Amino acid sequence: MKAHDGMYIGGTWRPAAGADTIAVVNPADEQVIAHVPAGSPEDVDAAVRAARDAFPGWAATAPADRAARIAALRDVLAARADEIAATVTAELGAPPKLAETVHAGLPILVAGSYAELAASYAFEEKVGNSTVLHEPVGVVGAITPWNYPLHQIVAKAAPALAAGCTVVLKPAEDTPLTAQLFAEAVHEAGLPAGVFNLVTGLGPVAGQALAEHPGVDLVSFTGSTAVGRRIGAAAGGAVKRVALELGGKSANVILPGADLGRAVNVGIANVMSNSGQTCSAWTRMLVHKDRYEEAVALAAEAVAKYVPGDRIGPLVSARQRERVLGYIERGVAEGARLVAGGPVAPRGTGYYVSPTVFADVTPEMTIAQEEIFGPVVSLMEYEDEDDALRIANGTVYGLAGAVWGDRDEAVAFARRMDTGQVDINGGRFNPLAPFGGYKQSGVGRELGTHGLAEYLHTKSLQF
Ligand code: NAD
Repeated sequence: MKAHDGMYIGGTWRPAAGADTIAVVNPADEQVIAHVPAGSPEDVDAAVRAARDAFPGWAATAPADRAARIAALRDVLAARADEIAATVTAELGAPPKLAETVHAGLPILVAGSYAELAASYAFEEKVGNSTVLHEPVGVVGAITPWNYPLHQIVAKAAPALAAGCTVVLKPAEDTPLTAQLFAEAVHEAGLPAGVFNLVTGLGPVAGQALAEHPGVDLVSFTGSTAVGRRIGAAAGGAVKRVALELGGKSANVILPGADLGRAVNVGIANVMSNSGQTCSAWTRMLVHKDRYEEAVALAAEAVAKYVPGDRIGPLVSARQRERVLGYIERGVAEGARLVAGGPVAPRGTGYYVSPTVFADVTPEMTIAQEEIFGPVVSLMEYEDEDDALRIANGTVYGLAGAVWGDRDEAVAFARRMDTGQVDINGGRFNPLAPFGGYKQSGVGRELGTHGLAEYLHTKSLQF
C-alpha cells in the first residue's frame, strides 16, 4: 500500500522531525502493509504554525470561494472513491461493498453538503439594532478514531473549512493511510497551503501535543469517553473551545405494536455493520416480555447470515479483538444466555470475532452498561413502557437509539429518551441531521448546520 514518509504541513509533504514510525497492519491477514511517521510535538508545532499563518487569509476568503474549494475537494474524493475504498479495506478490514458505499460514499456526501452550506449559510444576521457576525473560531485541532476513517475526518475538516477555520489533523494510528489520501485530495483540490495539515502519530504523544497546543483555538475530538474526558479537562484549563464525540450504548426499543421481524432484522444488521465498531450501534435490543422468546429466535436466525470473512470483516486490531472477547467472556460469567457466537475466534488468521447474541441480559450486567465496540447484541426483556424507558436511559451514554411501533407511540417514547438521535421504524441516516451525544456521549454536534456552527463564534455590532 502506498504511504507517505512525511507530514503534510504548509501545503507540502515534509520529513518528520524524528525517525520513529508506526506499522500499519491489515486486520484481515495480520500483515504489515505500510509504515507512517510517528509525529512528535515538534511536528505538531510546525503544523499549528502553518495553520496559524494560513488562518487570516482563509478566514477572509469569501464564503462562495471557500465553497468552491470544498466542492473541488468533494470532486477529488469522488474521483478517487475506489482508491479510498481499497485503502479502508486494507487498513480497517471493511468488506469491499461496505467500504465503497459507506466508507467512501458517505464522506463524499458530507463534503458536498458543506460545499453547499458554505455558500448558503447566513454568516451575518440582524437582531434588533445589532448585526451579528458569525466568525471562524481559528485553528482547529482535529483528533479522529479509526472506525470510519474518512467520515470522521470529513465530518470535522469540511465544516471547519466551510466556517473559515484552518485545521491540523491527528488521525488514529490504526488507519493513517486514509488520512494521507485525504491530505492528497486537499492538495489536488487546490486548497491554499496551511489551510489543512496532517500529523500522523500516537495519541498520547502527537494527539496530546495537539490538544494542549496554545496555538489551537478549538479541539474537536472523536473517540473514547476516557480520552475525551482528559481532552475536555485540558481544554477547560486553557479556556478553549472543545467538541467531544464519544462512546455510546444505544437502545433499540421494540414496542408491542412493532413489526417484530423487521425490527429484529434491522437491529441485528445495524450492529453487525462495520463489525460492531460503530459508536451509535443499537447494541441493546429491548423487547416486551410477551414477545421476548420469539425475538430471541429471530435474532439467532438473523445473525447466522453474518459469516466472518464474507459479510462481516475483522475487528481493527488484535487489541480490539481481545477487548471484545473479554466482554463476551464477562457476559457468560455474569449469567447471560449465549444464543449465537461466543468467545471463540471463527478463523485462524485475522482479528475476527464471531457475531454474538446474548439473551437474558439484565441492566446491571457489564455487557449492558459498557461499550463493547464489536459484533455483540444483548437482548433485554421489559415489563411495560416505563420499564423499557428506565432500561433505555439507564447508562451513562446517550448517543443514539431506535424505536419501533405505532408511529405516535414510538415518537412519544423517543421524546422521553436521553439521547441525541433516534431512528423511528428504521428511519434512514440523514447526513444533514445533527449528530452527537447526551450525557457522557459528548459535547457538541457534527453534520449539517449544527456541525458548521461548532466552528463559529459570534460578534455583535450595535447601531
Ligand atoms: P481513542 O480515544 O483511544 O482514540 C481516538 C483518537 O484519540 C485517536 O486518534 C488516538 O490516537 C487519540 N488519542 C488517544 N489518546 C490520546 C491522548 N491522551 N490525547 C490526545 N489524543 C489521544 O478511541 P478509539 O479506540 O480509537 O475509538 C473508539 C472509541 O471512539 C469508542 O469509544 C467509540 O464509541 C468512540 N467513537 C465515537 C464516535 C462519536 O461520534 N460519538 C464516533 C466514533 C467512535
